[in-house]
Amino acid sequence: MHYQKLEITRLGEQHLKTLRKFRDPKTVERIVKRIHKLDPGYPVKFCHVCGTHEWTVTHFGLRSMLPSNVQVIAGPGCPVCILPAAEIDTAIELALNGVTIATFGDVVRVPGSESSLAEARAQGGNVRVVYSISDAVRMAKEEQEKEFAFLGIGFETTAPSTANEVLKCRLENLSFLISHRLIPPAMEFLLGVGDLQIDGFIAPGHVSTIIGLEPYEIFPTAYNMPVIVAGFEPLDVLFAIYMALRQIKGGVSCLENEYQRAVNREGNIKALKLIDHVFDTIQGNWRGLGKLPDSALKLKNRFERWDARNKYDVEARKGRDILPGCKCHLVMIGKMKPVECTLFMRNCRPESPKGACMVSTEGTCRIWAKHGLDH
Ligand code: SF4
Repeated sequence: MHYQKLEITRLGEQHLKTLRKFRDPKTVERIVKRIHKLDPGYPVKFCHVCGTHEWTVTHFGLRSMLPSNVQVIAGPGCPVCILPAAEIDTAIELALNGVTIATFGDVVRVPGSESSLAEARAQGGNVRVVYSISDAVRMAKEEQEKEFAFLGIGFETTAPSTANEVLKCRLENLSFLISHRLIPPAMEFLLGVGDLQIDGFIAPGHVSTIIGLEPYEIFPTAYNMPVIVAGFEPLDVLFAIYMALRQIKGGVSCLENEYQRAVNREGNIKALKLIDHVFDTIQGNWRGLGKLPDSALKLKNRFERWDARNKYDVEARKGRDILPGCKCHLVMIGKMKPVECTLFMRNCRPESPKGACMVSTEGTCRIWAKHGLDH
């Protein structure tokens, strides 16, 4: 017990050390000066694909420190925001028909086509909030008379823990509604959005701890697009912007790793093997973006008895992703700022969201509503 306490203290100190290092005001001042020296003299646009990056950029007011020519936009990096309404509708149907849906708190509030899981729960549906997939496993073990389905969302970061539980699962009363998505295909999609004209990517650090660097190689080689893998502290993001501007100034496009303290070239081989063993990669539907090739995970045939869609014979359906007036589909690709949506902080607020981007703490509208100082 005493030893555990010491360990926790030591971890806390290490964390504080990292925070001090990557939030040091003098270093911020120095890097911002360097960024200004690299101002290309014409507009450039860097896109990140991560709710945590958007939080850092907005919470710390980083946009206000940049030259007016340098813009940072948010891509579809919030796993709750991109969850299609049809997949919420499926979960609602199961919840109203005797299956207990176990999922994360933010997912419960996301609008489906007509209602949310929270509304289904108010109508008597079985919906429980869990902090991790192991909570769902524990519930299913403890209440074997009930049927449970875990609605698993998230990118490459959370897919390994779902894969791990699927692999271990021997429970007849627990199945999985898999809604995992993959980040690099979404980045490729953004390059095809004609008038978006991105000049570089800031790639998500946590996804990269799993997938490594190789999946990003295509961007500099095929698209001449700088990619910087970055961490989540203010200096991580500022260094990434500096590195991308340095590439533009030097007329080169390459893949650089700002987040070397956590990301290596190979990624997490064990986690990648686990994903590969449990899932197939298929075309995936993204809320507001449509179908993207090779962007979603599906349980392999050998695990189909644990696939909730098979088990309960759920039909694929068409959902209504964007409610009238909501501009999430434009916010999620960085074409519109939340403040440009006429519903922002009027009809749509964190406590009464109209669109998925206002629900999750990783959603751009929600982040701007809570922390947006540099609109
Ligand atoms: Fe949608 Fe609300 Fe964001 Fe507008 S402010 S785009 S309605 S989530």
